[in-house]
Amino acid sequence: MAYNSYKPPVRSRVATEPPPVVSIVVDDRQLLQYAAGVAADFRAGATDRPVRPERDYDADLIRAFGRELPERGCAPDAAVDELIAAAGPGLMANVGPRFFGFVVGGTVPAAAAADMLAAGWDQNGFNAVLSPAAAAAEACAGRWLRQLLGIADTASVGFVTGGQEANTVGIAAGRHQVLAAAGWDVEADGLAGAPRVRVVAGAERHATIDRTLRLLGLGTSALEVVATDGNGAIDIADLRRVVTAGDGPLIVCLQAGNVNTGACDDLRAACELVHEHDGWVHVDGAIGLWAAASPRLRHLVDGIELADSAGCDGHKWLNVGQDCGFVFCAHPQVHTAAVAHTAPYLTGSGEHAAPGDFVLGASRRARGFAVWAALRQLGAAGVADTVERCCRLAGRFATALTDGGLRVVNDVVLNQVLVDVGADAETVAAAVRADGTCWLGATTWRDRRLLRISVSNHSTTESDVDRSVAAILRAVQATAG
Ligand SMILES: *Cc1c(COP(=O)(O)O)cnc(C)c1O
Repeated sequence: MAYNSYKPPVRSRVATEPPPVVSIVVDDRQLLQYAAGVAADFRAGATDRPVRPERDYDADLIRAFGRELPERGCAPDAAVDELIAAAGPGLMANVGPRFFGFVVGGTVPAAAAADMLAAGWDQNGFNAVLSPAAAAAEACAGRWLRQLLGIADTASVGFVTGGQEANTVGIAAGRHQVLAAAGWDVEADGLAGAPRVRVVAGAERHATIDRTLRLLGLGTSALEVVATDGNGAIDIADLRRVVTAGDGPLIVCLQAGNVNTGACDDLRAACELVHEHDGWVHVDGAIGLWAAASPRLRHLVDGIELADSAGCDGHKWLNVGQDCGFVFCAHPQVHTAAVAHTAPYLTGSGEHAAPGDFVLGASRRARGFAVWAALRQLGAAGVADTVERCCRLAGRFATALTDGGLRVVNDVVLNQVLVDVGADAETVAAAVRADGTCWLGATTWRDRRLLRISVSNHSTTESDVDRSVAAILRAVQATAG
């Protein structure tokens, strides 16, 4: 491939003489091809290298990136080479098939290439005047996403940074609606003197919900917490008890995909109940909403079409690059009333709201390219296959670790596995990471420290799971012995 043919000149890292100040572009094409080649080599190598980074943040990386702001610039290729040299030892191989930490997907090839194009094209995704292409890609990908995720085609969609922004935008729309229904214009008049908004959420909600309540001025003490069932989904009887115990403006936050167990709330029952009480339902579906893309798993998110707003992540299970999520709203006018820009010079795309009017950012990168490319590469069948395969592999982890004498404590309904290793989970997780075969973390669930495994990468195979199980069992043994 041509991209490997470019070899930048080797230079000493510390110049003895200041280099000449150069123009911005020496050879732009060669440099971009070189960078693409390095990225491609990294992706190809991620299967065989240790998953963990070689070096630590504190000890090495901070020093590698340097301390003083350089007075004089250097050639672009020199800057890129220094970046590659500094970053290389600190890179995590989460694009590879044996990263099971947090909930982090890899990147399907078309999405990685599309993100490189987005960098080269440098399109601003704010509106169709700035970039008709970026706006159209989002419009099309948004339609495809609604179809895949079981959301009405009339719903609005914003391409956000991830689940956090999706939850903040969705709940901001809810705040607008429930206060408007109570005769209060929160966007104009703020919250001082407003009717108090009740916020109801499950005991195992994601931390981004609490952060949203802080940011939106609703306050975490507004939270009324609902008990969860044995696997971490909301207890519908307790939801009824909490909802009927008070009145006034009401927002209920549900979850599709508990970040520890993968459990999904009973969306249909919960939405029907909340709507009887004129409440707004927001569904945090960062992980679990993808179940809708699979005919076999769709039942887990039955009723999603009844939600008023919902969030979902692209950079997790869709396997597009980091910094990509979606927020949907069944009431587009409410969505824009809550978050659209109001300056007249920022509109300019006719009567249609701009893509930037459904998110918190203004200028932003064109996230729609990578999403469109991933969906085009995978097709509906490919997305379903990715989701089903990850769930099947999570089941394989559970069976093999149980056979190995460990205890899986959750009902593995999705892609998440919680393991009681009978020893200090953090110590075992650290030993697994040091071994390098795979990467995973520990969590606390119901007062127990557990290993937490998330299978979210499209490229993970059965043999990756088997190798990782062996590594975990080795680490458990080493820790016990
Ligand atoms: C990951 C996650 C979030 C936060 O999403 P980001 O993309 O990291 O902002 C919110 N809720 C759930 C359930 C998640 O798994």
